[in-house]
Amino acid sequence: MGVNPRDRLDRPLGALRISVTDRCNLRCSYCMPEAAYRWLPAESLLDFDEIARLAKIFVGLGVSKLRITGGEPLLRPGLSRLVATLASISGVNDLALTTNGTRLAQASWELRSAGLRRLTVSLDTLRPDRMKSLTRHDRHDAVIAGLDAAVGAGFESIKLNTVVIRGFNDDELADIVRFAVARGLEPRFIEYMDVGGATNWRERDVVSGREILQRLSGEFGGAEPVGRPGDPAAPAERWRFGDGTVIGVITSTTAPFCSDCDRARLTADGRWYRCLYAQEGFDLAGLLRGGASDEEISGTIAAHWR
Ligand code: SAM
Ligand code: SF4
Repeated sequence: MGVNPRDRLDRPLGALRISVTDRCNLRCSYCMPEAAYRWLPAESLLDFDEIARLAKIFVGLGVSKLRITGGEPLLRPGLSRLVATLASISGVNDLALTTNGTRLAQASWELRSAGLRRLTVSLDTLRPDRMKSLTRHDRHDAVIAGLDAAVGAGFESIKLNTVVIRGFNDDELADIVRFAVARGLEPRFIEYMDVGGATNWRERDVVSGREILQRLSGEFGGAEPVGRPGDPAAPAERWRFGDGTVIGVITSTTAPFCSDCDRARLTADGRWYRCLYAQEGFDLAGLLRGGASDEEISGTIAAHWR
């Protein structure tokens, strides 16, 4: 191990998103629009030892940033045990988790104590009725309680992810910024993407990053780019308004950032996708469970990345 392979765009392996479950307790229309899904069978999910083993192999190949995600990652029982293991891997200098926040009120302290430093919480609207129509569940209060618990638990940074959809929440942008700033959270606006479950995606519903900035400049003063300090591969470009407010904008629809991107993802059943948009994944679980050694798995990953 110890090699740092580069792909055809000369990108190193830098970050890995690890999905710990495909399940979710919400049904956001842009992600999981159907009422019922056929979930992965329990035995196909990687267990925590298998996830940790793969994570260590990826770290040996140059990955230094891990993000735990889902589905909804807090549905996975005992998640803080995995957090503690991943946080202890030498070479991991950034460990974060993305959650819909519905279970954060119960989980925040445990996650923080286990070594999780950064959190991203998704919240698309400040209006409970809108959240219910978007997600089919009446869980707005739970997310707000979760955010408050997370603030109390003392994470180093908490980002608030908002997918902007025209005609749904684009009249709330300034309110969301004020809501986030008042709690010490960094707001991040994400362009609505045509991915996976976004079955009703329409180009006209996308509000571009440029329009988001224009609208917010009217409230908070002219926007200056702060760039991606310390991390050119970060998905969000950060902007500072005239009054000092800082936000992030992820323009993955109008300005995809492929040449700077270093994110790959591992699904809950151990498939490795080299891009968030990739259609085909590589079956690492098959290798792992077929008895391959760490060196063999590492060599296979490096060869595929190249
Ligand atoms: N369940 C967790 C959550 O919602 O935060 C983690 C998984 S979720 C797939 C990760 C992020 O992807 C969320 O912030 C969500 O809003 C975003 N997302 C999902 N579908 C999207 C889409 N069609 N366009 C833009 N962002 C999307
Ligand atoms: Fe669940 Fe997150 Fe997808 Fe919403 S965006 S359905 S919370 S996985």
